Amino acid sequence: MKLNHLLPITCIICRYNVAHKEFPVCADCLHHLQTLLTTECRTCGRVPSACTCPRSDNHRFAFFYGSPVSQGLIYLLKTDTDKRVMEFVARLAVNACGLKPEAFDAVAYVPRSKKNLYFHGVDQARELAKAISAVYGIPAIDCIRRVGGKEQKLLSRDERMKNMKSSFVIKEDFHIEKPYKKILLVDDVYTTGATTKTCASLLRGRVSDSVVVFTLAKTNFLK
Ligand SMILES: [Zn+2]
Ligand SMILES: [Zn+2]
Repeated sequence: MKLNHLLPITCIICRYNVAHKEFPVCADCLHHLQTLLTTECRTCGRVPSACTCPRSDNHRFAFFYGSPVSQGLIYLLKTDTDKRVMEFVARLAVNACGLKPEAFDAVAYVPRSKKNLYFHGVDQARELAKAISAVYGIPAIDCIRRVGGKEQKLLSRDERMKNMKSSFVIKEDFHIEKPYKKILLVDDVYTTGATTKTCASLLRGRVSDSVVVFTLAKTNFLK
């Protein structure tokens, strides 16, 4: 007899409370997530799925980054290696912003810097792409490589953009017969959009005819 059938399942997020009957998370965590998904944009006043603020590329996101709950969730995804958490969050985020992953031929991601990867041990954008791939059954492709690039903090705005452009390349060993029609490019947080813009333009034409950007969060700041 398996004992885990008799024991209540613990929430995969807080690892403390008993999970809700239908979800792997507890009522408290579910409430926090619900609040996150409905927190309004500080610039246009709309919920994330309806935010009309101008963004580069075709970009969708699920919640605003800035509140302690959103920071806690992103931190959890960076440090937690339980893939059920990423799959649950990916499904929730995709549903919240009305994205239809089935409409894409493949999912790619913005790779972390070596320094970041060394620090956290997890490439959260890669894990998010893998989770979307697993949940929706679309292939995940590993085609972007991050190269040198200087520390962004020390550069002016123009220098940053130039530096960003030279920070990513298509992997030398990535070959496809002909470009995909439509791919989803994922990252965890959208700040200025410079990173996703750079990667999307790198992919466009060479890897895919069209690119849609999806991030879990977008920074919530007043203009
Ligand atoms: Zn919980
Ligand atoms: Zn907005």
